[in-house]
Amino acid sequence: MALGRLLAVLLAASVLTGASSQAQTTSAVSAAGRGAVARPAAEGVRSTLPAAVSAAHLTVDGQRTRLTFDLTRGVEMRAFALADPYRVIIDLDEVNFHMAPRAPERRGLVRTFRFGLFAPGKSRIVVELTGPAIIERALTIEGGEGRPPRLHLDLVRTDAEGFRRALADRAVSNLARRGDRETLGPRLSQRPEDDGGPPIVVIDPGHGGIDPGATAPSTGDEEKMIVLDFAKVLRDKLAATGRYRVVMTRDRDIFIPLADRVRIARDARAHLFISVHADSIGGATESARGVTVYTLSDRASDADSERLAERENKADAIAGLDLSEEPSEIADILIDLTRRETRIYSANFARTLAGEMRQVTRMHRLPLRSAGFQVLRAHDIPSVLVELGFVTSRRDVEMLTSAIWRDRTADSVAKAVAQFFATRNGTVAPAARR
Ligand code: ZN
Repeated sequence: MALGRLLAVLLAASVLTGASSQAQTTSAVSAAGRGAVARPAAEGVRSTLPAAVSAAHLTVDGQRTRLTFDLTRGVEMRAFALADPYRVIIDLDEVNFHMAPRAPERRGLVRTFRFGLFAPGKSRIVVELTGPAIIERALTIEGGEGRPPRLHLDLVRTDAEGFRRALADRAVSNLARRGDRETLGPRLSQRPEDDGGPPIVVIDPGHGGIDPGATAPSTGDEEKMIVLDFAKVLRDKLAATGRYRVVMTRDRDIFIPLADRVRIARDARAHLFISVHADSIGGATESARGVTVYTLSDRASDADSERLAERENKADAIAGLDLSEEPSEIADILIDLTRRETRIYSANFARTLAGEMRQVTRMHRLPLRSAGFQVLRAHDIPSVLVELGFVTSRRDVEMLTSAIWRDRTADSVAKAVAQFFATRNGTVAPAARR
């Protein structure tokens, strides 16, 4: 055993010595949990195909844990740490992950890790830690002599105070970068008038990429794919009528922050926003089943809804977004008035939607509920969040993954959308909205 470990250390040492000078520069700035940027290890041989990550290895040596990913070629990468919970985020060029969906490993400082597409051209690995740790080294190194190019993440145990200090360093270096970031606040009162075109419906398939949402215990089906499949069918049905313009917040397996979903709807000047999800409940059980339609409220209609909104609102944290500097909404009496009106429209649509869906599919015992969902917060766009069913129910999962069910249920949603705009156009002119 001792000999094996010695060989491993020697091999690792030779790998590091063989690394390019750029990679070594990187290792110097990556100390103390600071963001580290590494250049591609093999710059001359960039192909148009995304690189692939083919394997992960975890080695623990005393206080040090090394997580290594085998690559098909070098990629740009950057690593940083976050607290609550303790984790390390590795951002890299878009890569294909040829590995099992989630690593069950829990060794040394690594509890587990997830990966997926984070933004166009950008992939992300989120490493959940067992406790506070500092990024000692984060870099990609060239392959050679039968070795693949690799991405190394070296973590060293620290205490909460050491972690906090490393994080504070990073916050200072980030301030400048954040300065020019667009926020939701100033744009609230700058909404352009409607242009008189067809109503715009935004469909928002929940989760995606690095954030799988709920997973069916019986089949392993993931919420992010279930809701994307449904959203695509709904999009095609609405578009086929020729009566709406349809915008998707995502149409592939990619992560979109919650605030960006709202922003996409506002930028599109949406008249209706439909977020699509699938629920789960602790432990596989058949007791909770069926569709629930949620609207926004400051106080949740019941404890289950409150917990659900908390879970759904965690999507950004799951994907490793740092939420410490999110803008707070500005107070404005006109916005309050619009918000009140929007909530009435949202509630009307929720009722219509539940009425149509109940004709074709199973509904939850309490199908109309409300809670503080981040994604429903546009003050001037009627918004609902539909939980299509429970992935924790074997029978619901059968439904949710059936093409026939999708077709029938999307039809009922399309009917509700038609009704919503039919009554709306008869009563309130679009100009009443700001
Ligand atoms: Zn969800």
